Amino acid sequence: MDVVEVIGGGRENLVPGTPLLEVDDLHVEFRTRDGVARAVNGVSYSVSAGETLAVLGESGSGKSVTAQAIMGILDTPPGRITGGRILYRGEDLLTMGSRARRFVRGQKIAMIFQDALSSLNPVLSVGFQLGEMFQVHRGASRKEARERAIELMDRVRIPAARQRVGDYPHQFSGGMRQRIMIAMALSMEPDLIIADEPTTALDVTVQAQVMDLLAELQHEFHMGLILITHDLGVVADVADTIAVMYAGRIVETAPVRDLYARPAHPYTRGLLDSIPRLDQKGQNLHAIKGLPPSLLQIPQGCAFNPRCDRVQDRCLSELPPLVPMVDAEGAELPGRRSACHFWRETLHG
Ligand code: ADP
Ligand code: MG
Repeated sequence: MDVVEVIGGGRENLVPGTPLLEVDDLHVEFRTRDGVARAVNGVSYSVSAGETLAVLGESGSGKSVTAQAIMGILDTPPGRITGGRILYRGEDLLTMGSRARRFVRGQKIAMIFQDALSSLNPVLSVGFQLGEMFQVHRGASRKEARERAIELMDRVRIPAARQRVGDYPHQFSGGMRQRIMIAMALSMEPDLIIADEPTTALDVTVQAQVMDLLAELQHEFHMGLILITHDLGVVADVADTIAVMYAGRIVETAPVRDLYARPAHPYTRGLLDSIPRLDQKGQNLHAIKGLPPSLLQIPQGCAFNPRCDRVQDRCLSELPPLVPMVDAEGAELPGRRSACHFWRETLHG
């Protein structure tokens, strides 16, 4: 049987709720001259068809490295996956045959990066770059590939696509270039898109437009979407679920509304307190004190303990596992997990 049939087929198989990707206890480290940087320390998250998962955390928390491990583009060496599984539709990408793995990473999961200008080839027209995949993977002629490129440009609402298909990347604005990256990601009709800070380089208004476009396309095709960001404000409107990362671990997951209303980790609370809110005009923002730890030397116990305003003895020695949260009757709170020993106290203020 062909790998295409084994691993899921086309978009008609994108039934909302179908599990697409499951990262399970992933560990990644970088062996550098200064020591071993433990960039990812047991990350688990999953995303289903039709779901948008936002991965949130300060710079250096391991968000991009996790995505690079999924896509097979880790900087190796010095980087190395030292444990865990990455399941695509139940099949482990880390152990499946190389042909199937290339197919998944080349066509079923697509990635969008922050910097379109360095992802696009400056000396080839955008039409050529958009059409190339159809020539390589679908046996399209040059003319057919050009037509598909125009369709994709229309799809991401680049004005006058037919007139602009021969233009080069530098002839487009930053926002339009990011639309071209989205078009490129869509070209092979992937099940899942991973967007790593896709709007960070753009103006605030353009950010919102690009984010809306991404969300709209994701809804239309029922794709899974992983949005990596350091800025909760950018993803709040489009995410279903949020996973908060700190020092290479997930410290909290929650449906977006619950996370806003009742965070269950002091780090999340700190992140929320540092966002400007319209309803609290004029009040001081509370930035989290201190800096994220060096991944060469992650603190004992809870990695957040040096910055936590609720720290207790137990936090200094005992690593808190990410556990499902339960209510007073012991029933699980849907989608909610926290890696704080004292999540109950945090949740109740
Ligand atoms: P972010 O959450 O900002 O996306 P990254 O996942 O890019 O953070 O990086 C997490 C950490 O992994 C970095 O702070 C660094 O210690 C380490 N790291 C990432 N890439 C490399 C590399 N190419 N070489 C050495 N260390 C790296
Ligand atoms: Mg990053």
